[in-house]
Amino acid sequence: MRAAEIREPHVIKIVELSEEDLMNPADRNLTIEVAASGICGTDLHIYKGEYIGEFPVIPGHEFSGTVVATGSAVTHFKPGDRVAVEPNVACEDCQECRENRRHFCRNWWAVGVTAPGGMATHVTVPETAVFSIGEIDFVYGAFMEPLSCVIHGVEIAKPRLADRIAIAGAGPIGILLLRVFRATGVSWIDVIERNESRAQFVEGAGANSVFRDLSDVPRGQYDMFVDATGVPSVVEDSVDLVRPAGRILLFGVPPKDSRLTIDPFKVFNRELTILGSFTSLRNSRQAIDLIESGIVRVSDLVSHLLPLEQFARGIDLLLHPTEPTMKVMIDPRL
Ligand SMILES: [Zn+2]
Ligand SMILES: [Zn+2]
Repeated sequence: MRAAEIREPHVIKIVELSEEDLMNPADRNLTIEVAASGICGTDLHIYKGEYIGEFPVIPGHEFSGTVVATGSAVTHFKPGDRVAVEPNVACEDCQECRENRRHFCRNWWAVGVTAPGGMATHVTVPETAVFSIGEIDFVYGAFMEPLSCVIHGVEIAKPRLADRIAIAGAGPIGILLLRVFRATGVSWIDVIERNESRAQFVEGAGANSVFRDLSDVPRGQYDMFVDATGVPSVVEDSVDLVRPAGRILLFGVPPKDSRLTIDPFKVFNRELTILGSFTSLRNSRQAIDLIESGIVRVSDLVSHLLPLEQFARGIDLLLHPTEPTMKVMIDPRL
């Protein structure tokens, strides 16, 4: 039993885990044998030392696998169950939790961010964080977490039937946004993507038009603009891309302490709305259902499936892509 550990920024090591601890989870905890574990932008932030949490940390917050051991108080799961993990754990008792805002829990912690995660052969997690994935492929199950964040964002954006939408960024998250917005009955989705292989991909993945540069995008046309890049200048430009009464959703993670320069008069006299979307709020069951039903396809989003020992290579592929790269997935059983 082993894990890929980020010991300090830019240092990854494969470490041995205690079989004794993993096979004897306490109380309401259970241990999962990991079958698929996605690398995401948050992992890159952790790797670069730009994120909350302390080192060393075993990353991995988008994963699925099989239950192999349960604590004495576990009631919903048994060994052999196929599951995925919702990594944000809330206390359910603070003021935020008591007002249905558990994603802002004051005692928040997260599997793969502040506690050992799924870049491992095995990981122990609380039962309250675990969801059944039924019979779907483990690789699809590992999309439960990113898709649940996308569902949360779409629920905040509240698209109306036949809305016209522009999405900036066609990585795995941009494609998931496109597919979930499509499922809500919007009529038109344009995508802006600089990267050539990603632009080609999204063209075949259901975008109406793909623009390589923001300056080519028609002005004042969209009911909604969704940023999946986190680049502040993209958000600044979006003010001119939406129609009067348009909405702008900040979904990509912007650099902390960055600044926007926008004309507040335009926000005023065009009645613009700027929205933020942060993580998810118990959207996991919705995510599994959208995947299982085929309404949101994830099967084409994995570009690399690597063994645990190549976690560092996976990080490198995303930071410095030398080949077309979408979701990089680790299968610790390989
Ligand atoms: Zn993630
Ligand atoms: Zn709380």
